[in-house]
Amino acid sequence: MADCIFCKIAAKEIPSTIVAESDAWVAFRDINPQAPTHILIIPRKHLERLADAAPEDRELLGELLLAAREVAQKEGLEKEGYRVVINNGPFAGQSVYHLHIHVLGGRPLGWPPG
Ligand code: AMP
Repeated sequence: MADCIFCKIAAKEIPSTIVAESDAWVAFRDINPQAPTHILIIPRKHLERLADAAPEDRELLGELLLAAREVAQKEGLEKEGYRVVINNGPFAGQSVYHLHIHVLGGRPLGWPPG
């Protein structure tokens, strides 16, 4: 999508701190981190929301979760734990309409979320 900021990050048209990537996804540091480690994982395919995923995206969705695990391991979050979040739509606070997984760790995280 031409005007999507995360598509531009995936295409390396705008800068980001990429920590890992594959043919299907890119993981980079959140510009406004909410925890000592805050990484976003995006599919290269432009899907606006989780709600737009279809059965044909089954493999991609699995890859994104495995990417979250890989990134958490790489960042040394496995022992203490970490949180994986997908905000879907306005009530969840989604601000960028390109599907992304947040991986948050490095401090105790409260529950329930605000
Ligand atoms: P959400 O509120 O779930 O849509 O999350 C969007 C996230 O994208 C927020 O945590 C932002 O800080 C982050 N973000 C927005 N623009 C950028 C950018 N250019 N580079 C890195 N992270 C970004």
